[in-house]
Amino acid sequence: MRIGFGWDSHEFKSGIPLKIGGLILPHDQGLGGHSDGDVLLHAITDALLGAIAGPDIGSLFPPSDPQWKNADSALFLKEALKRVKAAGYKLVNLDSTLILSTPKIGPHAEAIREHIAKLCGIPANCVGIKAKTPEGTGTENAAIANVVVLMKRS
Ligand SMILES: [Zn+2]
Repeated sequence: MRIGFGWDSHEFKSGIPLKIGGLILPHDQGLGGHSDGDVLLHAITDALLGAIAGPDIGSLFPPSDPQWKNADSALFLKEALKRVKAAGYKLVNLDSTLILSTPKIGPHAEAIREHIAKLCGIPANCVGIKAKTPEGTGTENAAIANVVVLMKRS
């Protein structure tokens, strides 16, 4: 068995779509950064890479490289899954906690869960999607994602 942990944060910015878990959520602001700013897919990618002691997402897809500007973060996740497979492991389940003030994730949690399950090739009941508000942390203008994954030898 292997476990992996991933963490990511992105700042809210006006004029861009909000993408979380591979889905565009209705909101008046999106998440800035290189690629599409998908904080949840980035944390999942890092958790997968961490579980196999691989390079992190920033080393594989440097923000300084223009080819990753506005990139679909599902590409990063797919590369991590490919590396997991090559290392001889299989994803069992993942759990996540998002921390953001708005929008409410609850109404979208089921759609995000199903989309991530499909991207990762695991059943939807093996994907945990939880969200908290950033009370007392002073991070109201950011979205943060924490992810753990469990893997077994394939
Ligand atoms: Zn990121």
